[in-house]
Amino acid sequence: MTPPDPPFTEEHEELRGSVGGFIERELAPHAETWEREHWFPDEAFAKMAAQGLLGLKYPEQYGGQGGDYLHEAVLCEEMARVGSGGTAAGLGAHINIATPPIWKFGTEEQKQRYLVPGIRGERIGALGITEPGAGSDVAAITTRAERVDGGWVVNGEKTYITNGVRAHFIVTAVKTTKEGGHHGISFLIVDRGEGVTSSALQKLGWHASDTATISFQDVFVPEDNLLGELNDGFKLIMANFQWERLAMALGAVGAMKLAWERTAAFARERVTFGKPLSEHQAIRHKLADLATTVYTCRCVTYDALRRFVAGEEPLKEVTMAKLATQRASFELMDACLQIHGGAGYMREYWVERAARDARLGPIGGGSDEIMREILGRTLAL
Ligand SMILES: Cc1cc2nc3c(=O)[nH]c(=O)nc-3n(C[C@H](O)[C@H](O)[C@H](O)COP(=O)(O)OP(=O)(O)OC[C@H]3O[C@@H](n4cnc5c(N)ncnc54)[C@H](O)[C@@H]3O)c2cc1C
Repeated sequence: MTPPDPPFTEEHEELRGSVGGFIERELAPHAETWEREHWFPDEAFAKMAAQGLLGLKYPEQYGGQGGDYLHEAVLCEEMARVGSGGTAAGLGAHINIATPPIWKFGTEEQKQRYLVPGIRGERIGALGITEPGAGSDVAAITTRAERVDGGWVVNGEKTYITNGVRAHFIVTAVKTTKEGGHHGISFLIVDRGEGVTSSALQKLGWHASDTATISFQDVFVPEDNLLGELNDGFKLIMANFQWERLAMALGAVGAMKLAWERTAAFARERVTFGKPLSEHQAIRHKLADLATTVYTCRCVTYDALRRFVAGEEPLKEVTMAKLATQRASFELMDACLQIHGGAGYMREYWVERAARDARLGPIGGGSDEIMREILGRTLAL
């Protein structure tokens, strides 16, 4: 057996084997149905929870596994095995972007109310930042929370929110000063209830995921649901982005590796002009290039991950990993589709879905252009 690639150890590779096996047995067989139905059942969260997979990095006192970000990183890579970007995205949004702010910034009481049932798969979370008028420019959000006796009243609209229809609670960015912006945004945990309405959106890919516009109309949110410090929400957004982007990079690395293996297997079998595709030099060279892409993306991502778990603040490396992997994954899936010829364009082949699903990467979690802007600043340009 080849030794694990740092920062992973034998223990992580064991986890990889069991997580990958679970996903292939319990989730992957349903991927096609869930994609067709544009929905995966809440039961998938419960199944994940029963395996401890909604709380790998959380302390045991909250029902987690007492692991760390490296254990979670294994899961991020293995999620590609579901074969449905939408299912991976819905589960991933709960694990990687909705519950972490509660763990990091929540009060003990908030952790008991949201994190504990979240880890058990009983309450599903969403993160609501993006609005119709504010995506990349997160400081421009206009959803506002007015102070009232005992809490706040929230009005406004969020859009493109993953788990936006099913979520029991939405970790929501709101304006808590008249000016808003960097020093006037806070986070409220908003329970689904009176005044909260969702409408599902149709998408190019990620069909099984539930993406929605959520409107808040005079929603009362109690005082106790303020997450973190008042008017300090921008810090929370920035803290969350680092793991979200790393998780996306890891997800792309897992998806690319799997796609390469499947495409190489196809190329070894499919015969044209009397020999397998892989024996035609153009295809062989293409596969060699794609293997190099997988390897370089993996190295960049693992380096950022190693720095992140070591407690550095690797803004530059995480940003580079997100930028490099998302576009590369989209291009690699397109190349894999091409190698499949007409079959690649057919619904029944995995690669048709993988190519559509990969298109989101350069947009979500901060677009390629925004990654370049961040790099411009970190490189003092
Ligand atoms: C399927 C899906 C799921 C999502 N899930 C969530 C979620 O769970 N929670 C959440 O809060 N959000 C979510 N999002 C929103 C996502 O994060 C935003 O779509 C993304 O940040 C881009 O914002 P925007 O769509 O408003 O594009 P805009 O900000 O309007 O940008 C439009 C284009 O202009 C470019 N651009 C913008 N500003 C600049 C600039 N200064 N210089 C150069 N180019 C620029 C952008 O890169 C982009 O290409 C999701 C989106 C999708 C599609």
